[in-house]
Amino acid sequence: MDKEFSRLLARVARNISVAESGVVHEEATAMQNDRTPLAELINYVIATASAANASDIHIEPMATGARIRLRLDGELRDAFQIIPAELYRNLVSRVKILCRMDIAETRLPQDGRFTFWQEGKDLDMRVSIVPVIYGEKIVMRILNNQQSLKNLEQLDLTENNKAILLAQCQKANGALLITGPVNSGKTTLMYAIMQKLNHSERNLISIEDPVEYKLLGVNQIQVNEKINLTFEAALKAVLRQDFDCLGVGEIRSRDTAEMMITAALTGRMVFSTLHTAGAVKTIFRLMDMGIPGYLLAVALSVVVSQRLVKRLCPYCRQAYKVKADSMEAKFLGEKYEPDRVFYLPEGCDKCKGTGYAGRVAVHEVLVVNANLSNAISQGKSLEELEQLAITEGMIPMKEDAIGKAKEGLTDLKSIMTINYGD
Ligand SMILES: [Zn+2]
Repeated sequence: MDKEFSRLLARVARNISVAESGVVHEEATAMQNDRTPLAELINYVIATASAANASDIHIEPMATGARIRLRLDGELRDAFQIIPAELYRNLVSRVKILCRMDIAETRLPQDGRFTFWQEGKDLDMRVSIVPVIYGEKIVMRILNNQQSLKNLEQLDLTENNKAILLAQCQKANGALLITGPVNSGKTTLMYAIMQKLNHSERNLISIEDPVEYKLLGVNQIQVNEKINLTFEAALKAVLRQDFDCLGVGEIRSRDTAEMMITAALTGRMVFSTLHTAGAVKTIFRLMDMGIPGYLLAVALSVVVSQRLVKRLCPYCRQAYKVKADSMEAKFLGEKYEPDRVFYLPEGCDKCKGTGYAGRVAVHEVLVVNANLSNAISQGKSLEELEQLAITEGMIPMKEDAIGKAKEGLTDLKSIMTINYGD
């Protein structure tokens, strides 16, 4: 501790007005103390959704009233009774006030956000309102729900894949990319990586849209298109921020890809997500975006491809053996063993009769070692690279998924629906 610094800081604190911090507090108490029935109803819906770990709340007007659904484990479910149409209009207005939107505007889409305070925690709510034929549809994304923030140990990675990612976080240079379709848990994995990279001796910066969780010690930048703080603009500025590790929410343009890869070539670590399927395909996706293979060969360290499948309820799953002439045996191919036990969903009180509880991540982790790097710069084909990756130790996603079905984490039916091809 620097005593002189402490003394100076205390002197500053004595002389400063506390008006600024007071604003936040007043807003919080105003919201908390608002006891109108409508405010309480909305508070109740958000609190229920947050407690259930829902990612989104959908409130949608229909011919005879509005329904509220929650997205739980990736699927929408009815959660409350229908709201009468006349009450719904008031509810929309209340949400608009919370988000400082234009209450009078009912014909155009509006975006906004507000903070929901609950037992000392704050939930950031990102709100989208879009006019539909029966009124205005509201979708609220729940951000910063700390209880759904997971660390690398909780993400169903095999020991081998976990070790690869831990080593990458330790070495902290090169590019780490996470790929998969929408709703494949890319953001969850990215936050797990950020937690591992977060050390006081590193300057860790992230550019996100939206910032889903606030991490102490990470310099998180919220993209704001309305004022032209785009991914590209933020990236350009951040390159002069003496960073060690840099995360970008998503690579969407050639500009972003180029700046990220260039930064990775300067001995720092960059990480991001992309909408591609397989790990090896990501290399070709980046080349399609205009990044030369010889740069990727040097810059890329690790590519993780991920999907989410239904997790079997551990309390009621039923063991069984796969019949030799079944579709499942065909799916297993050479991995088929007549005596191997797999599991089926059954349904009990703990899983509300569904047989499933939450989701399991399945992965394919590509390490760009010297051999792969050479092959990439020589311009080898997708098939050649995929074959080489497997020779060098990459476990294909299908194999990872079968391993998790063998462990009883998921069932064969769920992993058979994954698109492994593209
Ligand atoms: Zn169950």
